Amino acid sequence: MQNIINEAESVLLHTYNRFQVVFDHGNGVCLYDTNGKEYLDFVSGIGVFALGYNNKDYNDALKAQIDKILHTSNYYYNEPAIAAAKALTKAAQLDRVFFTNSGAEAVEGAIKAARKYAYNKDGQTDHEIIALEHSFHGRTMGALSVTGTPKYREAFQPMIGNIKFAEMNDFESVLSQVTDKTCAIIMETVQGEGGIYPATEEFLKQVRVLCDEKDILLILDEVQCGMGRTGYMFAWQKFGIRPDIMTTAKALGSGVPVGAFLMTQKVADSSLVAGDHGSTYGGNPFVGAAITKVFEIFEKENICGHVQEVGAYLEKELDKIANKYDVIELRRGAGLMQGLVCKEPVSAIINTALEKGLVLINAGTNIIRFLPPLTITEADVDRMIAILDESFAANV
Ligand SMILES: *Cc1c(COP(=O)(O)O)cnc(C)c1O
Repeated sequence: MQNIINEAESVLLHTYNRFQVVFDHGNGVCLYDTNGKEYLDFVSGIGVFALGYNNKDYNDALKAQIDKILHTSNYYYNEPAIAAAKALTKAAQLDRVFFTNSGAEAVEGAIKAARKYAYNKDGQTDHEIIALEHSFHGRTMGALSVTGTPKYREAFQPMIGNIKFAEMNDFESVLSQVTDKTCAIIMETVQGEGGIYPATEEFLKQVRVLCDEKDILLILDEVQCGMGRTGYMFAWQKFGIRPDIMTTAKALGSGVPVGAFLMTQKVADSSLVAGDHGSTYGGNPFVGAAITKVFEIFEKENICGHVQEVGAYLEKELDKIANKYDVIELRRGAGLMQGLVCKEPVSAIINTALEKGLVLINAGTNIIRFLPPLTITEADVDRMIAILDESFAANV
């Protein structure tokens, strides 16, 4: 394994401090390294592999599409993308979709749609967007501009202009940033990288009312918290509100690189038109087949209902661990998107867990993040908790 790691470090740009492991294949909720060692996976490729590894139904659908056609470009219609768009718009209760290749690109598209919507109203180009502190929306320039971690932005200034930041779950701080130039408010329904921090129902509803009153577009970034992760197809669906624009990616393709931004008909009628936006790969037949199959499996296996049940069990078991160790401040999250907020850096605990055959990831320095495949069982939770317990015991 060390040889492979050395080769990687001699050729890849070093933008990640990677764990010292090379994963070779996966099955269900487990990964296997190149030595054949098994790991229980509570990261799922950062919330991507919603259906677990080596799902036969999913793999067969992709293989069948490979033998038909992979790519046509967006100058032509293709049936897998149409089927995917129908399934996604239905699940998201939104009217129009544009497929991208990643989450960051979905955010870029959402920003462009919001700016165009405002431009169509007054012909001006000085509109402002309000984003939240500690948010994460991606690494491209537009998505980075609305990402609320100053150190990610620092060296890459200037950002795109006219972005203001407010505090999560603090409606007054949002209100204080609103001007008659505000065209959009962008936020994650549950902040992911920023520390597994859910927006409260009250905050979401207050922001929704504000946006309605001032014709500001509410953009909800569901790249991490969407696709069943919280027990709802999209996290905002728990609260009886609806965004004007939504982004999704990660589990949308459950393993193939795809994202999307969606909007209401009202926004679609007055924003991006032919020539305004595009993508060579976006929504090609291959990813279309993957997305369509993902939604089919979600429905057939009632994944959201399962997440509500096993998510409640995970919460209960994590709470026991949180009570057992003083170093843990609290647990927070929703469904199968959970975090243990600690008083100290968690990297040693995560490394111990990896040695013991459990894959975990951090969110910020002090938070252990849990993003397992949505197909985990209570027995998998028990197995995870046992290793987590040992890993805390070994480090405190
Ligand atoms: C991961 C993530 C992104 C960026 O997605 P990429 O596919 O890595 O570009 C954007 N928003 C949120 C909330 C994310 O978690």
